[in-house]
Amino acid sequence: MYKVEWSAKMESLIGPYHEFIVEILEFVNQEPKFSIKTESDLEVLVKKIKELKEDESCNYKFLDVATRTNLKNYIRDLKYEGENLLSKYNEFNINYREFLSKDWEDNTQYSKELTKAFEYFYTDLIHGKIFNDTVGESNAIREFREELTLESTCPYCDYHEMEFDSASVDHFIPKSQYPLLAIFPQNLVVACTACNDRIKKEKLYLPIMHPYFDNLDEYFYFTYKDNIIDIEFYDYVSIKDREKVKNFFKLFNLKERYNKYSKRKLIKLKKEIQRNVIKQIKDIENISIDEVQFKIREELDDLYADISKYKKIDALTKLKLDYLKQMKEECFSDLIS
Ligand SMILES: [Zn+2]
Repeated sequence: MYKVEWSAKMESLIGPYHEFIVEILEFVNQEPKFSIKTESDLEVLVKKIKELKEDESCNYKFLDVATRTNLKNYIRDLKYEGENLLSKYNEFNINYREFLSKDWEDNTQYSKELTKAFEYFYTDLIHGKIFNDTVGESNAIREFREELTLESTCPYCDYHEMEFDSASVDHFIPKSQYPLLAIFPQNLVVACTACNDRIKKEKLYLPIMHPYFDNLDEYFYFTYKDNIIDIEFYDYVSIKDREKVKNFFKLFNLKERYNKYSKRKLIKLKKEIQRNVIKQIKDIENISIDEVQFKIREELDDLYADISKYKKIDALTKLKLDYLKQMKEECFSDLIS
């Protein structure tokens, strides 16, 4: 719900994944190329890899990994693909944001072999020691998860405060549908397991907001009326951006979840304000309505400042801040009663 800034540390951990894929796809485009499967293809491929390893002008890092892991088998499979995968990948790299906005599409039918290869890159390869020793930091994906769960709420729901053990790495655009994005850095978002594993799963709605690119909280505000939490858009928000926000809410089932689990937090917040104000005014005789209003305003302002300090750290700050604003706009009629 709040933007996650892509930091230099994140880039240093995950950035090398992108270079690794580019290397592999460049190599897939080079000779030898395979069209019909034969028994000796793997031998031919390994021979080529060994030649390149001895060639001092070639600095591909993946060569070492390929000879020592199953990677070579998957590279062989990619060499049967008819598509130019490198240019497809580069197109995705250039158009990732346009894809999210639905201004660019990819209608390629990806083969089962290609999907399996990229699934292997993500599920096995990048978690392995050989890959990490050669390509990046040791256990970069684990560190990436650690970095993003430190004192942070889930960027999707802002409901769960994330902990290392209860967070997972989500493929914002599902890798099952767009396998080339399986280890594409900006497609990897650390989120709570409720959002990622239980609610979003393999779904995709476009156009959509993305936590690395959009300040979602600047497009809408929460309202709490007649016991229902809903959202409204600021006037300046375009129709397209409204659709992107709505799809984000739909993808993570946020309205239902907020209504089910967050209302009691708002009730608690209101009670806290009432309690604090009553404590301050209970000994004042003949207090006027204006004075009560003044005290409430002070209390709301203090709370607003307090909660603002913990945006992205404490759960539900967006909801709470919007609720405080709403109470102020409604001249705290509810509170005074
Ligand atoms: Zn979440």
